[in-house]
Amino acid sequence: MKANFIILILLLSSFKQTISQNLAYAKTIINTVCSEKYHGRSYDFGSDKPLAEYIVEELKANKVKPYKKSYYQDFSINYNSLSGNNLVKINGSTLKPGEDYIISSFSSSVSGKYPVITLDKKIIDDSVRYRELIKQDFSEKIILIDTAGIKRKDFIQAYELITIQNYLKAKAIIRIEDKNLIFYPSQIAKEFTLISISRNCYKETINSVELDIQSRYIKSYQTQNVIGYLKGETDTCLVLTAHYDHIGCMGYDTYFPGANDNASGIAMVLNLAKMFSEQKKLKYSVMFIFFSGEELGLLGSKYYTENPLFPLSKIKFMINLDMVGSGDQGIKVVNGTIFKKEFDRLTKINNENNYLPDVKIRGAAANSDHYFFYVNGVKSFFIYTLGTYKEYHNIYDKPENLPLTEFEDLLRLIFDFENSF
Ligand SMILES: [Zn+2]
Repeated sequence: MKANFIILILLLSSFKQTISQNLAYAKTIINTVCSEKYHGRSYDFGSDKPLAEYIVEELKANKVKPYKKSYYQDFSINYNSLSGNNLVKINGSTLKPGEDYIISSFSSSVSGKYPVITLDKKIIDDSVRYRELIKQDFSEKIILIDTAGIKRKDFIQAYELITIQNYLKAKAIIRIEDKNLIFYPSQIAKEFTLISISRNCYKETINSVELDIQSRYIKSYQTQNVIGYLKGETDTCLVLTAHYDHIGCMGYDTYFPGANDNASGIAMVLNLAKMFSEQKKLKYSVMFIFFSGEELGLLGSKYYTENPLFPLSKIKFMINLDMVGSGDQGIKVVNGTIFKKEFDRLTKINNENNYLPDVKIRGAAANSDHYFFYVNGVKSFFIYTLGTYKEYHNIYDKPENLPLTEFEDLLRLIFDFENSF
């Protein structure tokens, strides 16, 4: 009895140890892929190449093979790069990139000091003044848009038109932002510069703005998906995916680490690769895909579904993991309502093992790399964690802030679920 008890304790503690090893491995991966040398998992400075090599090295270390000869699937992208000079000075003081302002990534280059014309509630309320004001030539001026306090929807829409389309043909547009500053990469380039400035930096009238922003349109840049494969007893395949690109950098020094989005997913899939390769018997083959080009518009996953390594009909089930670094409020399962039988099984496994506090269901959504698989007939889930962690596409989404609250439980849940097929 006593001996059994000791064995049980030993078993439990060794189980705990392997789990914490998983978390330690995840942290190493997250710290690595978020490091400065990859410039926010950008294409700038060719950062995606050594990053893809790092993932391949990890696959090799975990004894995961390529499907045929290569781990890489090349494809090309167009994007607008902002990795050069990046200076914004208002009334003589320099703003902090990422913290005080975000440049819209479609922006063109601009350099010089320009007078500022403010369009805000006061101007809108004075229609005579407004009509006079917009008659002028803005080509060497900056328009500052502040919609605070404007109630009429058509006015807000008009300001939106001035902002997004540069309807008044200004040199640049500055928008005062009350919400969080969020950066998105762009596949297109426009012929003006749009800068969102945090309201915190807008204390006094802005008379002049000095800008030095360099942008460059990059055509046909070759990037790559990274794909690993474990052969099972049948060629029917379980597919686990995460995108490894992020939104890159804004200027040379400011980069977006993307700890939750999607270093957490890379870490989850590499951990799963490790667990599956250590499993003695594989009923199904397992493929691990790390997509590039997700942030630019699901480009890597779209390319894969148009050029699959084997017919998509051979995929038993796909799980895409994107932003899985929290979980204190559980997880959300996109496509849960569509593949209800699988969703119910996932919930059952979760409840039996007390893994996550909640498994929430959601319908179809074109919001990550599962999408093109789903529309091409592949049964798939996209899982992301829910929680109090809210850093998204900003400079604060970094490893030291990421809680990884339910990382190990989610890892177990997915592993058990995959083994239930
Ligand atoms: Zn993402």
